Amino acid sequence: MIGHEIQTAAYLFASILFILSLGGLSSQESAKRGVMYGIVGMIIALLATVLGHEAEGHVYILVAVAIASLIGVSLARKVEMTAMPQLIAILHSFVGLAAVLVGFGSYLDPETQTLTGATHSIHVVEVYVGIFIGALTFTGSIIAWGKLDGKIMSKALIYPGRHAINILLLIVTAILGVLFAQAEGTDGMIYLYIMTAIGCFIGVMMVMAIGGGDMPVVVSMLNSYSGWAAAAAGFMLGNDLLIVTGALVGSSGAILSIHMSKAMNRKFVSVILGGFGNTSGSSKAIEGEITTINHEEAADLLKQAKSIVIVPGYGMAVAKAQYPIHDLVQTLRKEGKEVRFAIHPVAGRLPGHMNVLLAEAKVPYDIVMEMDEINPDLPDTDVVMVIGANDVVNPSAQDDPGCSIYGMPVIEAWKAEKVIIMKRSMSAGYSGEDNPLFYKDNSEMLLGDAKDSVDKLLSYIKK
Ligand code: NDP
Repeated sequence: MIGHEIQTAAYLFASILFILSLGGLSSQESAKRGVMYGIVGMIIALLATVLGHEAEGHVYILVAVAIASLIGVSLARKVEMTAMPQLIAILHSFVGLAAVLVGFGSYLDPETQTLTGATHSIHVVEVYVGIFIGALTFTGSIIAWGKLDGKIMSKALIYPGRHAINILLLIVTAILGVLFAQAEGTDGMIYLYIMTAIGCFIGVMMVMAIGGGDMPVVVSMLNSYSGWAAAAAGFMLGNDLLIVTGALVGSSGAILSIHMSKAMNRKFVSVILGGFGNTSGSSKAIEGEITTINHEEAADLLKQAKSIVIVPGYGMAVAKAQYPIHDLVQTLRKEGKEVRFAIHPVAGRLPGHMNVLLAEAKVPYDIVMEMDEINPDLPDTDVVMVIGANDVVNPSAQDDPGCSIYGMPVIEAWKAEKVIIMKRSMSAGYSGEDNPLFYKDNSEMLLGDAKDSVDKLLSYIKK
């Protein structure tokens, strides 16, 4: 057991480590250090809480932590890098569920029944708001998991009058809140149950209404909600560290969501109200013909090129092609070619997904460019190699108002002299939109699994 002072000092230290951790995650070079700060901070936080003077039943807590850690470690070891977004979404749902359960527990706790006056009012507001945010986060994250895992269609589900229904539900929630605050003893449980059901329903409908192309914003928005749900749980439990940590996650998630909306040229409020991934207009008919090349011909194009830009996307992650791509880049650079990567902010299924994979394969950071940096150079580029990317190089985003990703900035691969597109078939991207880039005169499809194709290219180039 540790005293109150030691626990407070430990919480403060853990909070500082969490802030340093977030700071570290802001660049690839310092990200590992940032993760280490986070791990140490979390261990200190857990120990300080379990050994704290007010914690009872240490044995049960330790057993629960041990079981949860075992499940967590085995899940994280098994999960493929491409399934990471789904794992994160489902973990967010646990935070939401925890906030709901803490809210119920806190309301029923005999000690809180004795609160009076302002303390009582503050407590009921904490419980009510905490459970509402938790319920939203819980079901919204489950739907996000389903969409990211391909279990639920990624297209937006739009039904007439949904904004009116949502507003009506929010008004009912507010009225129930007033009745809840006035209830004696634990009589308010019935209002909590109804409000939880409404929160769960809004969570489902909100994420269902968001189209595939806008899912990045949803993922970071749910991350933010899970932070606020944790902060609300912190208020209910009187745990300062949980409040600080929740606020850090909530605010950094909100900032990330705003950045992601900007990167996609969307209005944040419009994205979270849903319906953006579904346009009333229909997409333009695509003109032109698809031409394919084989690996030897593609290798020849690369041998002749002086400047090459590689655009990786979700398919690179699926194929785990980043390792042979690193070897290919090394070989091409040794031959004096300028080779760079063009990274779209929402390529893959997670913010920073491509950067993580390329860093894992030890691709030097200085040749990894952001979309805005590289786009002006593309007209002077000899070959753009699109590896498993689709939506992020779709020209319809610029010239087809009927397309669901219209307005999203894209990598202008078609401006290069030649484009080689590596994917397995002619299927559409995550947004469900066909891609006119495949039909352009200067585009060539190199069909097949991205890793196999890169391996073959490498062997031809080394010949
Ligand atoms: P897309 O999902 O649009 O396209 C990926 C392409 O990769 C597919 O068309 C697929 O074609 C191809 N592919 C899949 N497996 C392989 C393989 N083994 N070898 C070669 N190709 C393969 O990916 P982008 O990265 O271009 O765009 C990301 C999309 O995901 C955007 O719509 C974005 O909004 C959304 N999103 C992004 C998130 C983020 O935070 N980054 C989060 C959630 C969604 P084929 O089947 O023919 O091989």
